Amino acid sequence: MTISTVTATLSTTASTGSAPRLLDTRTTAATLAVDDATDATFRRAQQRSERIEAELHVDPTAYRVVTGDRPTGDLHLGHYIGTLANRVRLQNAGVPVTVVIADYQVITDRERPGPLRERVRALVADYLAAGLDPQRTAIFPHSAVPALNQLLLPFLSLVSVAELHRNPTVKAESLASRRTLGALLLTYPVHQAADILCCQGTLVPVGKDQLPHIELARVIARRFNDRYGTVFGEPEALLSSAPVVLGVDGAKMSKTRGNTIPLGADEDQTTAAIRAARTDGLRRITFDPVSRPSVANLLTIVGALSGREPARIADDIGDGGASALKALAAEVINESLRGLRARRRELLADPGYLDDVLLDGTARASAAAGETLERVRAAMGMNYFGE
Ligand code: ATP
Ligand code: MG
Repeated sequence: MTISTVTATLSTTASTGSAPRLLDTRTTAATLAVDDATDATFRRAQQRSERIEAELHVDPTAYRVVTGDRPTGDLHLGHYIGTLANRVRLQNAGVPVTVVIADYQVITDRERPGPLRERVRALVADYLAAGLDPQRTAIFPHSAVPALNQLLLPFLSLVSVAELHRNPTVKAESLASRRTLGALLLTYPVHQAADILCCQGTLVPVGKDQLPHIELARVIARRFNDRYGTVFGEPEALLSSAPVVLGVDGAKMSKTRGNTIPLGADEDQTTAAIRAARTDGLRRITFDPVSRPSVANLLTIVGALSGREPARIADDIGDGGASALKALAAEVINESLRGLRARRRELLADPGYLDDVLLDGTARASAAAGETLERVRAAMGMNYFGE
């Protein structure tokens, strides 16, 4: 099934591997259908994403983007296609962008935080290498912004425990962690609402797995406004043309599953991983996300990176089979990421600069979150020391 979306297509300058740019064309982007592709929420989010893209075309400042990642390991192709390239594209189109490194959320589903310092630096290097510009885009770890974390308290009063238990992503992550559901994992979406709303975020470029969290952030904003007077806009999710990129084992590409193509992998590692990726035995390549998800996934990746229709790519390969598809995918991925990888290496060699970027982003985010917290306190009647 092909879901038609009017999405600005991610394209890279293949020869230089430079940062993605916005193709000013309306493209019918093929979207991976996953098990619950008929899911109404998902379809609504896709339709809404199309409308938002059109609005941003007219006025790039109509939304304020806030988004982020957990520093749980190296960023991968799923991040790049699912959200990172969208962040860069929006930033370059003039949309205000803030990126949160969600370090407290690392310990939602594991006991130890791991080598956070290195991972946070690597994240910053990946962001900058992908094209985020620290002059325009603030990047900060949420542990360093007390006002953001303080928002959690009033927000927790706006949701019920039953609502939190119903969140499908929390359920899935709890199951995957094979641990008792901790209170921090249960309240993860509320903390994420604080991430978004502390910086007055109204648009969140995410993968499909994040939709329930964004929905809860909307509920929290709405309930706060209803109860205390309007302080927040209701944030919206922005899906890319590949809302779920699958890993080499056919499941969602995810750091913790170990099924990724890391952005920092070298070309040989990438080619080897793609060669080992799951496909099916059918000789003729067709784009059929429902019955051939792994083949469709490779076609979608190639399509997203080259700005082409996955179905057309399949037609071109025809009877070339999985080996021709994999050879093409490895070539396109390596070419598209070549520039990013070179910049990433340079940036990692200069940790002092990466730390400065983080410090500057933290100062800007702290100012924004401080202002929001003041407004929240004032709305709640807690502004004891003001005028
Ligand atoms: P972890 O396994 O630690 O949860 P992850 O690989 O799932 O890591 P996150 O840090 O949870 O990555 O996700 C960061 C952002 O990237 C989110 O917006 C998420 O929706 C998006 N994302 C992650 N994996 C994919 C994927 N495979 N396809 C599309 N988007 C993705
Ligand atoms: Mg995740």
